[in-house]
Amino acid sequence: MKTKTCLALLLLPVLAFAAEPRAKNVILFLGDAGGIPTLNAAGIRAHDKPQSLYLHSFPHLALSDTSSLDRWVTDSAAGMTAIVTGEKTNNGMLSLLPAVNGRPGRTLKTILEYAEERGLSTGVVTNMPVWDATPAACYSHVVSRKSTAEIFKQALNPRFGDGVDILVGVDKGLTAAAQKDGWDLGQGLRDARYQVYASPADIPADAPRVASIYEGDDFVPGPVISNILRSLVRNPKGFFLMVEWDMHTNKLIKGLDRAIVMDNLIRQVAGEAPADTLIVFAADHSFDLRLRGGKRGEPLAAQIDAQLAAATPPEKPVVRVDDSHTGEEIIVAARGPGAERLRGFIPNTAIFHLMMDAYGWKEN
Ligand SMILES: [Zn+2]
Repeated sequence: MKTKTCLALLLLPVLAFAAEPRAKNVILFLGDAGGIPTLNAAGIRAHDKPQSLYLHSFPHLALSDTSSLDRWVTDSAAGMTAIVTGEKTNNGMLSLLPAVNGRPGRTLKTILEYAEERGLSTGVVTNMPVWDATPAACYSHVVSRKSTAEIFKQALNPRFGDGVDILVGVDKGLTAAAQKDGWDLGQGLRDARYQVYASPADIPADAPRVASIYEGDDFVPGPVISNILRSLVRNPKGFFLMVEWDMHTNKLIKGLDRAIVMDNLIRQVAGEAPADTLIVFAADHSFDLRLRGGKRGEPLAAQIDAQLAAATPPEKPVVRVDDSHTGEEIIVAARGPGAERLRGFIPNTAIFHLMMDAYGWKEN
């Protein structure tokens, strides 16, 4: 009996440690330019009620600073670098620190690379170019976000594991940039053992390693992400998935509707993902949209449409948009194991640590 009691006492700290909720999987939803004003207007546009997005039901949230290393207002490259590496860098740079005294800056290890190193399955899905700043910050390390061919070459030659397992995004010049650089995109993907699909809608369930680098408008994300999840959950070690949906409102209706599409997607995924999945929503920066007017009891969508259709812009617009990123805090929201750590005002670099802590990983 005595030995048993001693053993139980010895195990107590271990049990207490084990009881701390850990995430096996992390899904990071990145609403590009999805600041508070955009989420506010999108929710009212969708449901004619305030705080009516699915995101508004998330139990844990924080307000994140988005400044980059060299600017108060970030671009997507530095913004996403902070979120996936825990380090701020200069605008335009991807998961790499600036040079110091002529020596190249440090290459930053991304949360996706930590996942690959540990044998988890990984995915990067976007309705923007697959080589664009937000997805590229997950898998590449370059001085300039414009170096298209070099960025994607790094996806095909990963530093850890076998690189991103599920790659979905728009081509928009990638095939041409690769050609100019002396290699063939299709061949490169096949050499890296990807099953290649012309459209994201063609990706079957359970395919472990796929690429769909497509041309054209947004795909319908619900069924695509469902199939991808069915593949990712098969890895007993877990997975990391980043889903970007652009919601810049320089095209007002398109931006707001994309915010609504992403919100519906998050609702669906929260229902489908295993319980031991941390789901995080963050924007990389806010956008200069302001809800300036609008009557209650009349659909906001109709009032915005009337504003846009008016021959002369109204003196007091319902919504005013200036085509620019802005520097105020964005909402980070989370649910699932590890989400309870999210609170207060935080730097954007803390989002990386939230995910690492949820997995129970230390930086190396
Ligand atoms: Zn952005």
